[in-house]
Amino acid sequence: MQIKRIAVYCGSNKGARPEYATAAHALGELLARNAIELVYGGGMVGLMGIVADAVLKHGGHVIGVIPEKLVIKEVVHEKLPDLRVVKNMHERKALIAELSDAFIALPGGYGTFEEFFEILAWSQLGWHQKPFGLLNTAGFYRPMLEFLDHTTSEGFIRPKHRELVIVEDDAEKMLQRLRAFQPPNETKWIK
Ligand code: AMP
Repeated sequence: MQIKRIAVYCGSNKGARPEYATAAHALGELLARNAIELVYGGGMVGLMGIVADAVLKHGGHVIGVIPEKLVIKEVVHEKLPDLRVVKNMHERKALIAELSDAFIALPGGYGTFEEFFEILAWSQLGWHQKPFGLLNTAGFYRPMLEFLDHTTSEGFIRPKHRELVIVEDDAEKMLQRLRAFQPPNETKWIK
């Protein structure tokens, strides 16, 4: 599939290991070099700021979507070519999802998880057919992936929907797999 814009979800902190920042920068550079626009939460903090700065540094385009409460100096990225201020988190997530052809999560915390689990929940309902990739930098997501396997073997996630999570530790391979994604023809409720 053709991918023109990718939403990146990631920490508003940099995390404890330098590998996280390196991966965020590499992803931003890769997007710019492939003329893929970045859609993200519009912050300048943590990995979010690193991805956005890397895209801009390499001549790419960035769309930030930020709730009005977070338009605070030191938080909002003030150098974005396209910053959209929305009313709240719900509007932000909906707009990011609508604008993007695919999603990638880098390491992050609660904010990152809630954003990408919503995308996965909508995906298993068949409400969108866009690919989702988890960039497993330094094995960060290993415990979560084990838990998803557990959830699947305990009968709460269908095996087909477990496969919705594309896992790679290399951004370039991730991009190839997102482009090759075929949505499952199995939605949760429709028989
Ligand atoms: P977290 O993983 O908890 O650091 O949250 C990061 C995610 O939540 C990002 O993808 C953002 O969309 C959103 N978010 C959390 N904190 C901020 C912030 N200070 N500025 C902008 N977005 C944020």
